Amino acid sequence: LNRGIGSWPARRARKTPDRVAVVHEDRTLTYGELHERVLRLAHALRALGVTRGDRVAYLGPNHPAFLEGLFAAGALGAVFVPLNTRLAAPELAYNLADSGSTVLVHAPEQDGTARAAVAEAGVPHRIALAGPDEDGGLGYEELLAGAGTDPVDEAVAPEDPCMIMYTSGTTGRPKGAVLSHANITWNSVNVLVDTDLSGDEVTLVVAPLFHTGGLNMTCLPTLLKGGRVVLLGTFDAERVLGLIEDLRVTYMFGVPTMYDAIAARPRWATADLSSLRTLNCGGAPVPARTIATYLDRGLAFSQGYGMTEASPGVLFLDREKASEKAGSAGVPHFFTDTRVVGPDGREVGPGERGEVLVHGPNVMSGYWGRPQDTEAAFTDGRWLRTGDIARIDDEGFAYIVDRAKDMFVSGGENVYPAEVEDAVLDHPAVAECAVIGVPDPVWGEVGRAVVVLRPGVRADRDDILGHLTGRLAKYKIPKSLVVTEALPRTPSGKIIKPAVRDAHAPAPA
Ligand code: ATP
Ligand code: MG
Repeated sequence: LNRGIGSWPARRARKTPDRVAVVHEDRTLTYGELHERVLRLAHALRALGVTRGDRVAYLGPNHPAFLEGLFAAGALGAVFVPLNTRLAAPELAYNLADSGSTVLVHAPEQDGTARAAVAEAGVPHRIALAGPDEDGGLGYEELLAGAGTDPVDEAVAPEDPCMIMYTSGTTGRPKGAVLSHANITWNSVNVLVDTDLSGDEVTLVVAPLFHTGGLNMTCLPTLLKGGRVVLLGTFDAERVLGLIEDLRVTYMFGVPTMYDAIAARPRWATADLSSLRTLNCGGAPVPARTIATYLDRGLAFSQGYGMTEASPGVLFLDREKASEKAGSAGVPHFFTDTRVVGPDGREVGPGERGEVLVHGPNVMSGYWGRPQDTEAAFTDGRWLRTGDIARIDDEGFAYIVDRAKDMFVSGGENVYPAEVEDAVLDHPAVAECAVIGVPDPVWGEVGRAVVVLRPGVRADRDDILGHLTGRLAKYKIPKSLVVTEALPRTPSGKIIKPAVRDAHAPAPA
């Protein structure tokens, strides 16, 4: 029998065939329809030679075909490989070759890069959502129409690999985390135990499905429960507000920049947000300003913390605690455990800082084809090293401080940029901010703030940095400031610190 997530549409169709599963633009799919399309796609993939363990890649913005591909691959015991839409053709070719994918399914938006990458990597089959095309691309809808709807009888065990999910590439080249059906199922169970997400949920999926935040924190738990997911192709703050009102959205996950962009729209002040029950934010440090904006609007805005390697949920703040513990990423998910340890590997006491280690059924077995990285990612006891620094308060609530990699040392003191960025962002003229360490003859390193100003606002170094005096210890206050047009970000909206350092660290301001 199939015990993997590829069986979810069939199980849902058995239980709630007529409920709406997926909404995208003006299309809706019930669970019964989703199940039928998944079966057809599975047969079509099988006809192309896809069997157990083979890799099927997908490239495109959020779209029902992403979910169909995931479930169809899962029905066959094949491994789904979601690719990042921002990648250039050579990078895609690398991922396709690295994962050994034999099929690429892609959207019209990525037509050019998909064709080039498939040719370069020698991928045998390309399926175009808008196909067929003259370059040998098969037509997605044609394949489905020509395939049957018999059950796909493939035995899939929970421990079998389900996805190779690439990390965001915030600190270097993305790594492919191998997530099993069990990993992803346990992550969904954690979400369902720790939230009141129900079968009546209307979940807006705005974060990219090709990252675990978009797929596993909102979309899959909702589908497991029989709720409705609304897919937005790519993030657009104005459309998010419109969809929340029109479709009475109840639940959503986003990274901080998405929430900032939504709250910056003129419509934010008057939009009817009464349908929203839970707004979950995570994936990057969440500024205090962002939390305050949403709590002040009377919304249950809570933070989660995790990483691709953990499918991704690790810590979660219950919405009941959203106000009382504002700024905290909460406590470990029900079936997941964390330890916060010092350099000696011993657990630190309340208030002290240390690295977060994670253990749980949602944690990956390793990185695809990278035994050394896998080895380095775990301690002897198989605890995942996150590289993130946290402190725990005396009630056990965790506060994520920053990545260890982004920390710098000024005059012998550790500076965690996230805390400094938070204070800079409190200045009304500042829209976005990244703080980096730059070499300094006296202090070793000192901070430099790289900021994007709000449109139509003028502010200089003294205005912005002057407002930090008295709020932050002197060694944390940046010594220089650079105003820029935009910060380099990943598709999920995270600031790419190495790129900020490359662009702004060397030249003295
Ligand atoms: P790469 O591993 O390729 O450099 P990445 O670490 O950004 O990229 P993801 O797995 O998408 O890839 O992100 C996980 C990381 O995001 C965590 O390790 C942490 O640094 C950061 N993060 C996630 N949630 C939070 C949060 N609530 N607060 C602060 N940081 C967070
Ligand atoms: Mg990472």
